[in-house]
Amino acid sequence: MTTTRSADVLENALDAVARAARPTARSTAATRADWLRNIADSLDRASAELISIARAETNLTEVRLANELRRTTFQARLFADRLSTGSFSGAFIDPADADWPMGARPDLRRTFIPIGPVLVFTASNFPFAFGVAGGDMVSALTAGCPVLIKAHPGHPDLSRATYRVVTDALADAGAPEGVFGMIEGEDNGRAAVLDPRIRAVGFTGSTIGGRALFDVAMSRPDPIPFYAEMGSTNPVVITPRSWATRRAEIADGFAASLTASAGQMCTKPGVVFLPDVQGFLDQLPSLSAAPMLNDHILDGFHRTTSKMATQAAIALGELSARDAAPILFRTSIAEVQARPDLLDLEMFGPAALLVEYTHLDQVVDVIDQLPGQLTASVHGGDQPDPREAELVARLAEHAGRILWNDWPTGLSVTDAQQHGGPYPATTAPLSTSVGTQSVWRFLRPVTFQNMPDEALPEGLRRNLNSPSSAQEHA
Ligand code: NAP
Repeated sequence: MTTTRSADVLENALDAVARAARPTARSTAATRADWLRNIADSLDRASAELISIARAETNLTEVRLANELRRTTFQARLFADRLSTGSFSGAFIDPADADWPMGARPDLRRTFIPIGPVLVFTASNFPFAFGVAGGDMVSALTAGCPVLIKAHPGHPDLSRATYRVVTDALADAGAPEGVFGMIEGEDNGRAAVLDPRIRAVGFTGSTIGGRALFDVAMSRPDPIPFYAEMGSTNPVVITPRSWATRRAEIADGFAASLTASAGQMCTKPGVVFLPDVQGFLDQLPSLSAAPMLNDHILDGFHRTTSKMATQAAIALGELSARDAAPILFRTSIAEVQARPDLLDLEMFGPAALLVEYTHLDQVVDVIDQLPGQLTASVHGGDQPDPREAELVARLAEHAGRILWNDWPTGLSVTDAQQHGGPYPATTAPLSTSVGTQSVWRFLRPVTFQNMPDEALPEGLRRNLNSPSSAQEHA
């Protein structure tokens, strides 16, 4: 399972995941839980080497990388625990019923089966948590799908080192040959999206890249699910009630969230509606600068901030093509009402647009113009008043996660987490790419009708104990 850019290796990798599909799908949940735990333990053992490679390739700090690797191994173990307790059965059983009101019904048993080999485009900004052993990989493996990684060119050595650790861990745990592969290079990535052996794709990155590859997936004779998590400006509304009582707390929270990992987070607060821009600027602590992941991301930051500078005034900082010093822009709600596209421009890095309003109702009106978002936040009173509650309800129409008196960066991995949203935040608004519910992206529902036990999957059989989560309808 070596990786090069050659077409032969691409073909071998595709062939390997295809051959591994059936044995992987037929592994038990307990077996896959063992694979995941072995991966997590192996990553922990290799942490010093992996973090040192990551530091050299990403400009991220040791503390940040160590936290991210901890999150990555926690994630693998959490999915393993959920597999062990049968959380992903999702079965429904409707026994035959001659008196069913629409007419006699047959015996129907619904469950989920793995979708098949999954191609995962890893992200540049989270080299571990959205990397080779990241969320998409773990959720696909949990579902029972072989995984083919498209490594990100921003950290090739880390990708290869992580790949070796994971491959050895899987082999050591007795996972099927070919269950995990890796390819590199843009052409190979595109060719793999088109290949009929790939049955679903996970992607984290830019809107341009995600949309281009989504279009490739949809152009196949047999289009497949394409789960892209892309850009977001993550609007934040600071209401007059919160500004009157929590100025310092709000300004400090914004500064920390804006500059975390040099603003290179898809959840960074990029648009802030507030009643008093000058008061906010006066209250802000100094904003810390840090080097960006690579020159490609720095170029993107310069390009997008330069574009914003043609449309809004600079409120703090200055444009620079050399580094990524924090920069804030300001405009008015009237300007945004006239030019709602100002809300769409993601500046990936420590930059944000401050929008001054007079009445909260103006913000409520503008929200209807928002494109799909990963997150939206409201800073309000202790408890929402009716107008703040309306704001929350409106924002929920546009975003996957709505926060109250909190900042959107720092994404916990849990069962209730939702990391997604309407296009262009993602190409798949019905799913999440973070948290245990991400597994459903790679499971396909199947109903068995009048099926004898001998041909039923284990959890659906009559004469064995049904899984505790299967719901039987009398
Ligand atoms: P990217 O340019 O979208 O690249 C992500 C992955 O997709 C890479 O593996 C890249 O492969 C591949 N790719 C992109 N366009 C492709 C195409 N047309 N055909 C085939 N493969 C393609 O993302 P990035 O380099 O990480 O960062 C660039 C920008 O993405 C950032 O400035 C930021 O705006 C955004 N971003 C968003 C997130 C997020 O969490 N949503 C995370 C990181 C970055 P190759 O490089 O090999 O072509």
